[in-house]
Amino acid sequence: MERVSVDENIFKDSSAEKMSDINLNRALCRVEHIHKGLVEVLRYPKRVVSVSFPIEMDDGSVQVFKGCRVVHNRTLGPGKGGIRYHPAVDLNEVSALAALMTWKCALIEVPFGGAKGGVICDPKNLTSAELRRITRRFISELGDNIGPYTDIPSPDLYTDEQTMAWVYDTYDVMHSGNNNRAVVTGKPIDLGGSAGRREATGRGICYAIRHFVGKNLVPGLGSLEGATVAIQGFGNVGAVVAEQMQCLGAKVIAVSDSQGAIVDTEGLNLNDVHAYKRDHGTLIGLPGTMSITNEAILELDCDILVPAALSHQICANNAEQVKALLVVEAANGPITPEADRILASKSIQVLPDILANAGGVTVSYFEWVQNQENQQWELDEVNEKLLLKMNKAVDVTVERLKLLTAEESAEPKNDHDFPLDLRTAALIIALEKITQVTSQRGMWP
Ligand code: NAD
Repeated sequence: MERVSVDENIFKDSSAEKMSDINLNRALCRVEHIHKGLVEVLRYPKRVVSVSFPIEMDDGSVQVFKGCRVVHNRTLGPGKGGIRYHPAVDLNEVSALAALMTWKCALIEVPFGGAKGGVICDPKNLTSAELRRITRRFISELGDNIGPYTDIPSPDLYTDEQTMAWVYDTYDVMHSGNNNRAVVTGKPIDLGGSAGRREATGRGICYAIRHFVGKNLVPGLGSLEGATVAIQGFGNVGAVVAEQMQCLGAKVIAVSDSQGAIVDTEGLNLNDVHAYKRDHGTLIGLPGTMSITNEAILELDCDILVPAALSHQICANNAEQVKALLVVEAANGPITPEADRILASKSIQVLPDILANAGGVTVSYFEWVQNQENQQWELDEVNEKLLLKMNKAVDVTVERLKLLTAEESAEPKNDHDFPLDLRTAALIIALEKITQVTSQRGMWP
């Protein structure tokens, strides 16, 4: 297909790509046994597909949309990752996010590789019919570049169950006569979606927080009872984190959407927050709350800060002002490497994205398995399996960090630019797994 193109230069100049490379180097410089040649290939996506297509808008005009789908690596299994609809979608960031999916799947032990995709558009200014036409056309342009055993999309920023239903239907029309349900996850339940998939990312994040805090690894935070929580982003992930944290006894004092943040230090009433957002399309103005900016929510005095919206939110400019004891990366890539360094110097713990938000891809995997077997598991079964996966990922990452720290104390080297942290430990585990499986499979040819 002539749409497939890989130009190395385009992966070398964006901050998202740079951040991905820096994090990879942070892990690599701590270990000597990983085959560097096998890691080199992981700096580049395996396959990039860029598409453009015309769409007839509701008013009769025609607009051209651009989209892309990147498969980063398929050593462990088919590509897996979200499709996002956002004006800022760009190939470099999508490539970096696809790499993040590779690490995430390896760490959480699901048999997938990393992928990601998106369409440059502003979904807030598109009607449902226009979004349907964009989705159908995007998926038909991708053609057999997606499939149940090659690359399996799921929801991400501004895409949801409805979007995934259109993805499924389009692919099914193009491949009639097969059981195509496993081509996409995050579908509506009646269409083969999994119980608990919509909440899986947020629920997994809260399982990870509870398990991590329970290990007494956050100085000053012994339990979640009464712990104060601020959440940037009140979408699929952020809203579920808010509800689940409340269920675990924490107090959600601030949430935000693209228009700003609201704060109530006594604790927000989440039913009121949902109702106000539904009726007014914004959180700003909810009676009894104070409005602040999306920048200010990151600097609030709270125990747990959860960035659950966009990437690069905590960076060199504002990391010094973060006051939380624990920052949990619900979004992908919300903390830059420089900010990691600043947070570490302030003894602020960070639960990194590849660990914290891996619950989404975990239940996507459960959905894929159910689709293969034409089964529908009960919610309790899904949640129990998710809990085991999240707790195990926290355990192995914490243990790995302890081991790495002990090794470095025994043989101190002062030439590291970045601190040894959970992100580095998690990435090392993922790299070891991928390079080991590459060796087992044998280099091609
Ligand atoms: P969503 O579209 O449901 O919600 C996004 C939220 O971010 C909305 O509340 C929106 O108002 C807010 N937002 C948008 N622009 C903002 C800005 N400039 N400042 C502050 N808030 C802003 O998306 P989602 O599915 O909740 O995903 C959120 C993040 O979590 C993304 O980084 C995504 O990649 C990541 N993630 C999602 C999943 C999943 O299963 N959905 C899994 C893993 C990671």
